[in-house]
Amino acid sequence: MSTPPVEVRLAIVGSGPAGLTAALYAARANLEPLVIAGVPAGGQLMITSDVENYPGFPEGIQGPELVEKFRAQAVRFGTKFIDDHVVSVDFGERPFLLRTGSQGDVRARAVIVATGANARWLGLPAEQRLRGHGVSACATCDGFFFRGKELVVVGGGDSAMEEALFLTKFATHVTVVHRRPELRASRIMKARAEGHPKIDFLLEHEVVDLRGDDTVRGVLTRNVRTGETRELKADGMFVAIGHDPASEVFRKVLDLDERGYIRTHDITRTSVEGVFAAGDVYDHRYRQAVTAAGLGCMAALDAERYLEESSASR
Ligand code: NAP
Repeated sequence: MSTPPVEVRLAIVGSGPAGLTAALYAARANLEPLVIAGVPAGGQLMITSDVENYPGFPEGIQGPELVEKFRAQAVRFGTKFIDDHVVSVDFGERPFLLRTGSQGDVRARAVIVATGANARWLGLPAEQRLRGHGVSACATCDGFFFRGKELVVVGGGDSAMEEALFLTKFATHVTVVHRRPELRASRIMKARAEGHPKIDFLLEHEVVDLRGDDTVRGVLTRNVRTGETRELKADGMFVAIGHDPASEVFRKVLDLDERGYIRTHDITRTSVEGVFAAGDVYDHRYRQAVTAAGLGCMAALDAERYLEESSASR
C-alpha cells in the first residue's frame, strides 16, 4: 500500500541560496515549509570554492559551507527537508501535487520553484579534472584569483564577451576562443570586446584539451576547418557557452521561455496562481548567490501573502 502524501502549506523545490532563503523567511512566518532539496542538494555553490562576494563574510567562505549555514538557519526556524528530486508535478489540482523519486508524494497549497540552472561545459575530461583549479564558468566568482594571469574564454555569445571584459580587470591578456567565423554576441558587446586592448580572438577554433596536472598551464585548440592544433599559454580557462535552467519537470505545467527559463510576472509569480519562482531558474541575467537569495526572500513573502489571501477568501 502506498503511503499517503505529506500535506504542507508551502513546498519549496531546490536548496540553493534561493530555496533556502525562501525557507528561512517562510519558516519565520510560521508556514512550516518543506524543502524538497534535490540530490545532490545545495545547487551551484556546492561546486564553488571561495565565495568572496557574499556579504557578511569578510574573509570569504567556501561554497558548501555557505550552503550549510543557509540550511542550518532555515532548520533553526522549523524547516523540514526531503533529500530527493521532484520527478513530476500536477499543478492542475489543489492542493498541488509533487511526486518525489523515492520519498512519496507531497501536497502543498503553495509552491516555490527554486531549482536553479547549470552551466554548460565542454565535456572534456581535463575540464572536469581542473574545475576549481583554473577552470571556471563564472568570472564574477573566480576572476579575482587570476590577477596578472593570461586567460582563455570559450564562447561567442554575450556571456563570453561579458566574462572576457570582466576578466580584463585582473588578467594581463584574454583570448576568446570561438568555434565559428562570426561571434554570436550582440553588436554592442562585440564592439566593446573587440575594442579592448587586452582581448583578442581565436575564431574557428575549438578547445580540445588542457595542459597542466594540478592547475591550468595551457589550452590546446584545433582549427575547425583545417584540423591544425595549437597550444595557447594560459593560466585559466573560463567556459561561457550558456546555462540550462533546471526546469524540465515543469515544462508542461508552467509557462517557460524558449530557452526553458520560467516566465514570471510581478517578479516571482508564475503562470499558475500559487506557484512562485526564485533564483536562476528564471533569472538568467544576474545569476549571483546574493541575487538568488534576494529573490528567494521575495518569493516567500509573495507566497505568504497568497496563502493569507486564499485562506481569507475561503
Ligand atoms: P548564447 O547566446 O547561447 O551563446 C553561447 C555561445 O557558446 C555561442 O557562441 C555558442 O556557439 C557557444 N557554444 C555553445 N555550446 C558550445 C560548445 N559545446 N563548444 C563551444 N562553443 C559552444 O549564450 P549566452 O552568451 O550565455 O547568452 C544567453 C542569453 O543571455 C543571450 O540572449 C544573451 O544575449 C543574454 N546575455 C546578455 C548579456 C548582456 O547583454 N550583458 C550578458 C550575458 C547574456 P555557436 O555560436 O556556435 O552556437
